[in-house]
Amino acid sequence: MVPELEIPVTDEQEAEENVGFLEGMRCPKCESLGPFSISCSIGCTIYDNAVDQEGGAEWDDDSTCICNEPDCGFEGEVRDFREENQGGG
Ligand SMILES: [Zn+2]
Repeated sequence: MVPELEIPVTDEQEAEENVGFLEGMRCPKCESLGPFSISCSIGCTIYDNAVDQEGGAEWDDDSTCICNEPDCGFEGEVRDFREENQGGG
């Protein structure tokens, strides 16, 4: 999918849920709201001496997703990070 979201700007440091690209996502292990390392596909134009990135990153529920929390590092798929798949809520 190609996310086309406007990210709300907020002064509050501690969000209780994601509302942007990571909407509905939370680490199933440490409950971190991110950031997460997601294996994305990015369309690029490759020249002999340069690389132009075009378009945005794309990922789906099958993409590898890793929690960036140093003490966690949970690795799974994007679907594993969706709160709707974690039985909570
Ligand atoms: Zn985690």
